[in-house]
Amino acid sequence: MEKQTIQPFLTVANYHLIEQQLNKILNALATSNDNNIIQAVRGIVDTEITANITMTTDETQLIEQLFSVTDRAQGEAYLVSLKPYVIPFKTVTASNIKSLFKKEKKFKLPALEELDFQHICFLAWDDLGTHRKYVIIEQDDKLKGIKGTINNGTVKGICAICNRHADVALFTTSVKGKIVGTFTSHSNYICADSQQCNQHVTDIHKTIEFFDRITQK
Ligand SMILES: [Zn+2]
Repeated sequence: MEKQTIQPFLTVANYHLIEQQLNKILNALATSNDNNIIQAVRGIVDTEITANITMTTDETQLIEQLFSVTDRAQGEAYLVSLKPYVIPFKTVTASNIKSLFKKEKKFKLPALEELDFQHICFLAWDDLGTHRKYVIIEQDDKLKGIKGTINNGTVKGICAICNRHADVALFTTSVKGKIVGTFTSHSNYICADSQQCNQHVTDIHKTIEFFDRITQK
């Protein structure tokens, strides 16, 4: 019988979750010789992954290779082996971006050629000159652009996007209200470094919910 190949099934956020869980196992292996503890951590990781990623039997078998990882080199090889199964972020071109932000007259575009679309859950970049932050997310297979201002100063706090403790800055978005001439503003603390924030997103639904919330009238 012909072997069925597994199609890409992991979102970038799923991949980040697996990476994070793998680190839990590697830390347990590095700090403990007690097999019971290591097995307990593997159990926690298993629960965390199955609770967050829906998988077929074949996909589960692939992901479960995680439990035979015993050192960092194997861990890295395992992550590399998962890459073909990651669904990359939709390809974004400069003209896509211009049409998403039609009202922006002059603005800085992100360095698209430097981006690894297999590693981003959302696309964000800053225009330091205007203190603007631009974000593009994928929602219902479409791209959505969000524009906001970002405060200069950073504080330690919880990021509204990735929910991690980090250096955060106040991000303010403003949307037209239902009554002409009115605006609704939303201010939230988010990671000052959007690239790091991206790496910490392990649940894309929460991230999309956040952007939905701040773009509501
Ligand atoms: Zn963050």
